Amino acid sequence: MDFERIMLSRVHLSGTEQKYINEAFADDWVVPLGPHVDEFEHRLERYLGVQSVVALSAGTAAIHLGLVLLGVERGDEVICQSMTFAASCNPIVYQGATPVFVDSERDTMNMDPAMLERAIVERKRITGRYPKAVIPVHLYGMPAKIDEIISIASTYEIPVLEDAAEALGSEFDGRKCGTFGTFAALSFNGNKIITTSGGGALICPDAEIAGRAKFYATQARENRPYYYHETIGYNYRLSNISAAIGCGQMDVLADRVSRRRLIHDLYKNILADCRQVVVQDNPDDRFDSNFWLTTISIDPDSHKSPEELRQYLAAENIESRLLWRPMHLQPVFFDAPYYGENVSGRLFDHGLCLPSGSSLSDDDISRVAERIKKFFK
Ligand SMILES: *Cc1c(COP(=O)(O)O)cnc(C)c1O
Repeated sequence: MDFERIMLSRVHLSGTEQKYINEAFADDWVVPLGPHVDEFEHRLERYLGVQSVVALSAGTAAIHLGLVLLGVERGDEVICQSMTFAASCNPIVYQGATPVFVDSERDTMNMDPAMLERAIVERKRITGRYPKAVIPVHLYGMPAKIDEIISIASTYEIPVLEDAAEALGSEFDGRKCGTFGTFAALSFNGNKIITTSGGGALICPDAEIAGRAKFYATQARENRPYYYHETIGYNYRLSNISAAIGCGQMDVLADRVSRRRLIHDLYKNILADCRQVVVQDNPDDRFDSNFWLTTISIDPDSHKSPEELRQYLAAENIESRLLWRPMHLQPVFFDAPYYGENVSGRLFDHGLCLPSGSSLSDDDISRVAERIKKFFK
């Protein structure tokens, strides 16, 4: 092929990662925990303007620990946005609880606040109890209607755990995603906005609860001279080497976020005259997505499917991806309660994620956008 492969969201190193890793090696900090974990946590706290971030081995681990700390247990129900990655809801099942899925609204593709309220009221009527937690997701970086979601959840005194795995740097109403809920989860997987090669973080309400999170993340070992356990723990802390990579990535986080936003603007401009395609945008000026991935929706009247476009682009050496297939349409969750009118299913049927990695050049983005236009000609 003439062109190098354009990937969806490739790792984009800053060049300073090696410096932090060398520091760690020089002092034999090649262990779980260490000074780079502390530094990484403090830098995330400063960036987000919060007090208590706990670095963990994965975003999934962060969601799991958040549920543990909210006291979710066997027999409980937890409401989760249906349209998301399975990692948002699998930890509900790890706890022996039942996920209750809620549909999306069209503006943000995230949890529909009206459907959320319906689900809460309905579950109380059917089971006699309120769900134990609500997990909204800021999909592709787009903030959910988090003000409405928090307001509804607090009416029923249900805590919110934000899945901000894709939304580091996104803001709603001038406030960073991940700072609205009682807890929030971040991910530093290889394809996310910044990476630690693999890792995550739990944003906690205060230092005491962050201490509890660290306790559970290190096998729930009580403070005694011998190993003594009163509860079940996990091995969920981040390795110091991974955190060193994270420190190198924090050096460029602000640049990475602005580059993804610029890529979104480029797509929007080039595809403005392609009437079969709508580029997802911030619904109004309270929303400020990091545009981790730019997504498009294909006009059903074009009689083209996102899968046809995906294959066409793949033949041009361009990677794209269908949207997250909603959880209520996944065989493993067929039995779980679901509240909605399949808005998310229709979004899935017509949507596609475009290459959006911050290492892509303006030329790369033009090439993708021009190929899309050619496809519809
Ligand atoms: C990536 C991701 C996670 C999980 O993060 P890992 O670090 O891969 O465990 C959770 N939720 C969403 C929406 C994600 O995109």
